[in-house]
Amino acid sequence: MRIAAHTLGCKLNYAETSDLLRRIAASGHTIVDFSQTADLYLINTCTVTATAEKKCRNAISQAHRTNPEAQIAVVGCFAQVAAEQLKQLPGVSLVLGNDRKHLLPALLQNQETLNNQNTPINPSIQSNPINPSNPINQPPQPLSPFTPQYSLGDRTRSFLKIQDGCDYFCTYCAIPLARGRSRSATIASTLHAAREIARSGAREIVLTGVNTGTFGLHNGETLLDLLRALDTIEGIARYRISSIEPNLLTPDIISFIASSRAFLPHFHIPLQAGSDHVLQLMHRRYTTALYREKAELIHRLMPDACIAADILAGFNGETEPEFRSTLQFLSSLPIAYLHVFTYSDRPGTAALRLPEKIPVAVRHEHTARLLALSARLHRSFLNSQMGQSRPVLWESSPHGHLMHGLTDNYIRLATPYDPTLINTIQTLTLTPSLLADPSDFSD
Ligand code: SF4
Repeated sequence: MRIAAHTLGCKLNYAETSDLLRRIAASGHTIVDFSQTADLYLINTCTVTATAEKKCRNAISQAHRTNPEAQIAVVGCFAQVAAEQLKQLPGVSLVLGNDRKHLLPALLQNQETLNNQNTPINPSIQSNPINPSNPINQPPQPLSPFTPQYSLGDRTRSFLKIQDGCDYFCTYCAIPLARGRSRSATIASTLHAAREIARSGAREIVLTGVNTGTFGLHNGETLLDLLRALDTIEGIARYRISSIEPNLLTPDIISFIASSRAFLPHFHIPLQAGSDHVLQLMHRRYTTALYREKAELIHRLMPDACIAADILAGFNGETEPEFRSTLQFLSSLPIAYLHVFTYSDRPGTAALRLPEKIPVAVRHEHTARLLALSARLHRSFLNSQMGQSRPVLWESSPHGHLMHGLTDNYIRLATPYDPTLINTIQTLTLTPSLLADPSDFSD
């Protein structure tokens, strides 16, 4: 079969799609680009916001338009929480939530099911819908045990999934419903995967997870011990942690990264709001004071570190003064840029019970102000780095006549395309002319 895939959402999804496609290709199927005619389209979905779900529906329509005869397999987070809804969409023949998407390569061998578009979806492979009679904080169904997975996208950088699921139940977030309870790999299995990645030639690993700081929580291991062990793997020159909750980013982890061989000065620390009252409404497990402590410690030990923060705009109950304090709080920290999300109601979450809804227009206005602040913060971070010498890992994908690479502290550079540079690390003195055009990429 010709199989095309499209991935939405987080780096975790990219690692999982890449792993599924490697297993599918290994059994003799041909992987083609999503824009091409395929026999089966695999869409790995996201449910983090209403916008993410809309993009999933759009990808399904695009696949159906490209080849109305094709099978469409919808997998992942949106599939987990909205299986019944997705099954009704034209062309969709298979819906596999996070608990069952790993079965796809085996199911593809069953030509009888997949070659007959009218075959009803086998109830044994449907996802578990949220129970509508008890939607709030319903404990998720036990999902599949943890399987280490990794991407080998352009063979320079690999996303390695070390953890899945979350026990935190922040009031706005449906991820625990879509991905289940926190679980993780062992240090031994992660080292095994890292060595495989090193053998593939990739130089950089990004450790991904839903709540990566909870790595090892249920088997007596710790994230810090994992980082120490990974630092010794030969062949891997650079590691990043995709994201870590501020309360789990301990001073010991920060100090270790500051002095490690290969962990880079790049931190993605979700904040969500710069007001303690709003953080309480969100059931976040830290205060603004704790966030400041962590960001300032990083800055003290690694003055050139890139620190990115997630922010949620327009959360229920947030007042205008509280929003302004978020802007002030962010401006007072050594933050390099923001990932801004606009709040939308997620079925099954506790935030639905909060009475004070922010009008949609105000949510969008706050989003725009946060994006403007992010642009200012990023300009100032980039300016602070001009004239510095930084190592850059050059990637393989062409961008017109240019190629891109990332510095250790996550600045995207561009240079004329030169295949001999791919997967090499070059130390350069940063100048404005080296910066990649922001319209030419999205991270
Ligand atoms: S920590 Fe909170 S926001 Fe992050 S996945 Fe868990 S519940 Fe969602």
